[in-house]
Amino acid sequence: MSQIRKEQKPGLFVPMIDRTKCEGGYHHACADAKCPCVPACPYSVLEIRSLTTADKRLLSLGDRFRAWVHRNRQAYVVKADACTACARCVQECPVPNVIKLRRQTQA
Ligand code: SF4
Ligand code: SF4
Repeated sequence: MSQIRKEQKPGLFVPMIDRTKCEGGYHHACADAKCPCVPACPYSVLEIRSLTTADKRLLSLGDRFRAWVHRNRQAYVVKADACTACARCVQECPVPNVIKLRRQTQA
């Protein structure tokens, strides 16, 4: 079932990556498709990067070990202001519930 949504004004929503689930190209489905969230985005919002020290600190010991086994690579939001909440990345990610679109709170 298609999850693609009507595009919104850029910057109203931001993708949130669940650091306890993102496989960053390790999981066979994510690896086979070469991190499909990245090419799915028409606005280059996402990139695969190394887990930051700050993000690692937020993980449990078990999740940190899992991330290490998975080479500490995960999807990162690098152009949040360009996201139109189209949900193509959500649709293409083979791991359930990794990417969630969160409405930005007004400054
Ligand atoms: S968000 Fe999904 S598709 Fe993207 S790297 Fe993580 S698991 Fe793979
Ligand atoms: S919701 Fe659309 S614009 Fe936003 S990161 Fe995902 S694919 Fe890119």
